[in-house]
Formats: sequence, C-alpha cells, structure tokens
Amino acid sequence: MGTVEEVNKVLFDEEAATSLVKELRASFTNGKTRSYDWRVTQLKSMLKMIDEREQEIVTALRDDLSKPELESTVYEMKDSYVKELNHIGSQRNKALDKTRKGKFVKTSLTTFPSSGEIVSEPLGVVLIISAWNYPFCIVVTRIFNSFPVLSLDPVVGAIAAGNAVVLKPSEIAPASSSLLAKLVGEYMDSSSIRVVEGAVTETSALLEQKWDKIFYTGNGRIGRIVMAAAAKHLTPVLLELGGKSPVVVDSGINLQVAVRRIIGGKWGCNNGQACISPDYIIITKDYAPKLVDTLKSELEKFYGKNPLESKDLSRIVNSNHFTRLAKYLDEDKVSGKIVYGGERDKTNLKIAPTILLDVPRDSLIMNEEIFGPLLPILTVDKIEDSFDIINSGTKPLAAYLFTNNKKLRQQFVSIVSAGGLVVNDTTLHLAVHTLPFGGVGESGMGAYHGKFSFDAFSHKKAVLYRSFAGDAAIRYPPYTVGKIRL
Ligand code: NAD
Repeated sequence: MGTVEEVNKVLFDEEAATSLVKELRASFTNGKTRSYDWRVTQLKSMLKMIDEREQEIVTALRDDLSKPELESTVYEMKDSYVKELNHIGSQRNKALDKTRKGKFVKTSLTTFPSSGEIVSEPLGVVLIISAWNYPFCIVVTRIFNSFPVLSLDPVVGAIAAGNAVVLKPSEIAPASSSLLAKLVGEYMDSSSIRVVEGAVTETSALLEQKWDKIFYTGNGRIGRIVMAAAAKHLTPVLLELGGKSPVVVDSGINLQVAVRRIIGGKWGCNNGQACISPDYIIITKDYAPKLVDTLKSELEKFYGKNPLESKDLSRIVNSNHFTRLAKYLDEDKVSGKIVYGGERDKTNLKIAPTILLDVPRDSLIMNEEIFGPLLPILTVDKIEDSFDIINSGTKPLAAYLFTNNKKLRQQFVSIVSAGGLVVNDTTLHLAVHTLPFGGVGESGMGAYHGKFSFDAFSHKKAVLYRSFAGDAAIRYPPYTVGKIRL
C-alpha cells in the first residue's frame, strides 16, 4: 500500500477522467467561466498564488532540476506573471470584454445592407499537457518584459478566453507537479480549473475523453500520440514541440556579446534543457577558431574551471536523459571532436558545458534534438551555405543569426523556415507578447503568448446581421434572364 497521494494517483483511471470532464463541462455549460468577473478573478488569484508561494516554487524547481534560485525567479516566477497578468489587465481585459462585444467588420455588396461581427467564444473544456523543463513558467528577467510559459501560460490563455481547464503537468518534474496541483487547488476555482497529476496511464485516460482543445507541450513522438487521440473526437490540437534550433554566426560582429548571448540561451536556460536553446552553431571555417576561443573564455568566466561544481548550472533532469546525452558524446563518429568540456558526473546527473567542433552531419548528435549542455559547431566555406543546411533538416522551433550584414539578415528572414527567428540574440523572442510563439512543421502547430494565447483557446464566430430591407429577387427562382439583367 503506497501513500495517500500514490493511491489517489492510481485511482485516476478512465472512469475518473470521464467524471472529471463531465463535472467541468457542467460548470462550463452553466456559463460561469464565460463571465468577465470570473475570468479576471481567476487570473488575479493565479497572480496571488505565484506572489505568495514564490519560495515553495523555488524549492520545487531546485528539487526537480537543481535550478539556480536566480534562474528560477528570473525565468519561472512572479515578475513573469505580473507582466503577463498586467498585460491581461490592460490589453487583454479589453479583449476579455470584447468577447461579448466582438469586432465589427466590413461586409460585401452582395449582403447590402448588413453588418458583420466577429465574436470570440470559449471552446469549452480544454486539456493542457505540459513538459517538465519549465514546469511553472518562464521568461525573461526582472529587467526585461516577461511572461509565463509551459504549464501556466496556456492556462492563463484558456481562462482568459473563458474555458474550463484540466492541466496535466509532467511527472518528470514531480515536486513541481505536486506543488502545482496543491496550489491550483488552493487558489483557483476547482469547479472549472483542475490539475491531474500522473504519467502515461493518467494521460492516456485523459486522452480518451472528448475535449474541445488539447494543448500539448513536449516531444514529437508523444505529439503524434496526442494528435491521434484527438482525431477520434475531431478535437483541435495545439502542439508545442521541439527541434534543432541553429545559430548562424557571421564574421565581423561583436563576438564577445554574441557568445554571451549564445551562452545565456544555451547553458543559462536549464543547462540547455529548453525547447529554444541553441542546438548547434554554423560558422565559416576561418572564423571558427576565434568563436571557440571566445566561447571557452566566457564559459570559464561564468562557470569557473570546474563547471560540474558550479551552482549556476542546472543538472540533467534524470538518468534517462543523462544516458541519452552521454551516448552522443560516446559515439565513435564524434571521437576527438570535443574541444571544450565533456566532463560528467553520473551520480549527481551533471554534464559540463561541452563544445564539439566539425562533427559529422550524419552523427547521432546532429540528427536528434540535443536538449542538454552539448553544443556542436559545423563549419562552412561561405556563411550563406548555412541556410541550406538548416532548410535541409526538419523545421526548427527557433533559428538565430548573428550578423551586421543587412543582406544576410534579409536572406535569413526570407529563406529560413522556423517557428521563430531572432537576429543578434537567442531565445528572447519568447519574451515579446506581441509575437506569436509556436513551431512549424515538426516543431509544432499553432501558437500562443499574449493575445495569441487568448485566440488559441477561442473560436472566432462569424455573425452577419441583416435587416428585412434589400430582399433582392435575383436570389429566388425562377432564375429568368430578365431578373439577372436587373
Ligand atoms: P515530458 O517527458 O514531460 O512529456 C511531455 C508530456 O507528455 C508529459 O506531461 C507526459 O506525462 C506526457 N506523456 C509522456 N508519455 C506519454 C504517452 N505515452 N502518452 C501520453 N502522454 C504522454 O517532456 P519531453 O517530451 O521530454 O519534453 C521535452 C521536449 O519538449 C523537447 O523536444 C522540447 O523541445 C519540447 N518542448 C517544447 C516546448 C515548446 O514550447 N515548444 C517547451 C518545452 C519543451
């Protein structure tokens, strides 16, 4: 016999999932979640929750990922929510209000006289399945604008749009998952917002149900399972997946700043365990040695001579992921390619920042999303060649370019297909509310953040208003030539 929590988890089977959805659907149907007051109250409660329970969140993140405290508060926490919810309080509140009023649009001559309105309506009861790497939320600093992602950001969008929600956090970050369940239970309206903890069994039970939208964050293999389950009920899905996000480094730039920004996006984000962390670099052969030297010296400044002992680097989330990453380094094809790092500590699940130069394109590390602290560098003769390399693979979630060259920048923007692009930085597009965040092709479908989160959980209902005037005879039989001439 396990603990009460374990027994409860085991009891969450298909029957429990069916009755949960029934309960939430009743709550949605009675109109509660559509009300402006309910939505604003719930969003404010979420903010209060983050505000009052910050220390417990930091502790959970440390337990799950040994995430540095500042990285937690900077990337996962309060200010993120303050900004997102303030954003909701300003722009989005108007949007919330507008779900009643809608947006009037021009109509055509065919329907004259008439007016048209687009009314956003909530979809209904939605399921959000999230990943382990940013179990609470994210980005970016107390200095820059910021907002939450992963578990709670989609919940913000779902509530803002007036849906009932079930959140299924990842079992791979168990402390964060159980804290989320506890806090959401305490602070939010449990008749319409619920957290279900668990792994494959529980998620499968949830996926058997009919939802009005499924929002999934994680890897593409499970993304396919989610999509197949959704297809049975014709449920729309939003998939936030991953991919190999490249960084193209042109010459003639401020290399030190570029390198610091690459380090920030790679090792400064969960030690590379972030969906938009730089996955590999492309640079010309001539410029590569300078890049490697700068990376080495900046990494040493940040993490010291023995990075395995650095308190500023998260650990690898579990032994499966540690073994997966070790396999990349142990493959024969990459032997002799490590130019910096490579140290590992299996007991404490630590891997040092590691740079590999000129790895073969057919190596394992170049054919899977790395999602960890290893950074391969590919070299090319001409920097323009990098765009073909990127486009020859599956479409990444993000792509980055460092350059001062306007023409190269234009080419990059027009040629490279990725979920999002950043020029002269990494990862920060995530922090801009006015930009949609999402993948394309194998890196996902659909987008969220800011107003896009609201839209992701709304149906845009088209409404045409007519009066009894202007009833043209041509619409009705008999369709005589005389009528057409009229
Ligand atoms: P994960 O292992 O936590 O899995 C994600 C979710 O899928 C979890 O809630 C888990 O319980 C559920 N799941 C696992 N097996 C399942 C099954 N058989 N059936 C149904 N559900 C199942 O996370 P992960 O997949 O290791 O996350 C890493 C991946 O997610 C990377 O590819 C990363 O790039 C991507 N990611 C994308 C984003 C984004 O915003 N686009 C953010 C974070 C991570």
